[in-house]
Amino acid sequence: MQNYYKLSLKCPKCGLKLGDDGKIIDGVPAIKLQIRSGEEAGTVWLSALYGSYNKESTLPVRDGEISVFSCPHCGADLVSEENCNICQAPLVDFHLFEGGKVSICSRAGCTKHSIEFEDLNTAINHFINEFELQTHPRD
Ligand SMILES: [Zn+2]
Ligand SMILES: [Zn+2]
Repeated sequence: MQNYYKLSLKCPKCGLKLGDDGKIIDGVPAIKLQIRSGEEAGTVWLSALYGSYNKESTLPVRDGEISVFSCPHCGADLVSEENCNICQAPLVDFHLFEGGKVSICSRAGCTKHSIEFEDLNTAINHFINEFELQTHPRD
């Protein structure tokens, strides 16, 4: 059994929560973002479990395409200053409520993602909670 870390993310610009309680992916509220790819715009929901690539989108994005992700609250583009070390596309940054950040690659199909905690103890506590949560039956 794999343990997942449940992300609680906020916009680095306005500080508002990026979770959407109305959208459940992997059994937990998903992360909601605006997405632009080429001329088209839509909404994407990413799994809030770190390590899961499950997502839903109103915009069909083909693997290999680079999208721009933005905050559904303030509209700011969430572009990192760093590029993906696998495919060179820009990374997308989110901040964790407990301190730290998560980065994902903006290219569809690229599996690059990373997580940095400011305080490792918070992280360890969360992993234990998540483990306990997952030992209970889902339904
Ligand atoms: Zn924002
Ligand atoms: Zn990449």
